[in-house]
Amino acid sequence: MPMTLSTRRPCRAEGGCTQIAHGMSRFCSKHLKAITVHGHTSGRAIRAHELRPYRRLAADLLKTYRDRQDTSAALRWLQKMLDVLPEDEAGVELARLKSAGVTPEEMFCAALSIWAFHRDRPRSLPDDARLTFALGRAIVRLRKRRRVFARTSLRMQSFYVSPKAFRYIGLRIREALPVLFLRLIEMHEKAKDEEADLRWLITHGDEKAAKVRQ
Ligand SMILES: [Zn+2]
Repeated sequence: MPMTLSTRRPCRAEGGCTQIAHGMSRFCSKHLKAITVHGHTSGRAIRAHELRPYRRLAADLLKTYRDRQDTSAALRWLQKMLDVLPEDEAGVELARLKSAGVTPEEMFCAALSIWAFHRDRPRSLPDDARLTFALGRAIVRLRKRRRVFARTSLRMQSFYVSPKAFRYIGLRIREALPVLFLRLIEMHEKAKDEEADLRWLITHGDEKAAKVRQ
């Protein structure tokens, strides 16, 4: 039957997936899930150990620079995201986060750590929907949803977060914050370079420094 043939199309994901496309979709169920969760067929979760140094960096940056006006403006921007909600799935997620006590500072650190990871490893997290979704996911996942039993089975229901929520939150972050993230990271790197220069001078003394300058 032509109907049967037409429903057994190959998955169209890049890199030559051998699976059959799921239902009316262009992709198999694995790649469809990657799009829903990560915004892209080759999207993947960033592992906790990959993100760890960037989480530390983000916490350091917030601590060092939180009294700057640009950083405070970013925190107010994030507070507004929690206060002024869109009437869709993204609004539902943000309302849940707010009632669970999520702070703008936590959102700032979550977004900054993802963005700093992207800046260091753009091939692992490219500047496309993958970055948008990763930013949104990092914020949505600041608080786990309360688990409840599904009505139809005794298995734990794994909750479904709409891709709309990841995209909306990720785009709001990208709308304003990356330019600040870059500024803070560059200031931090410059401060570290200056410290390294001082250490070198202290270790090597004026005579060696004079030689290097010649
Ligand atoms: Zn596939």
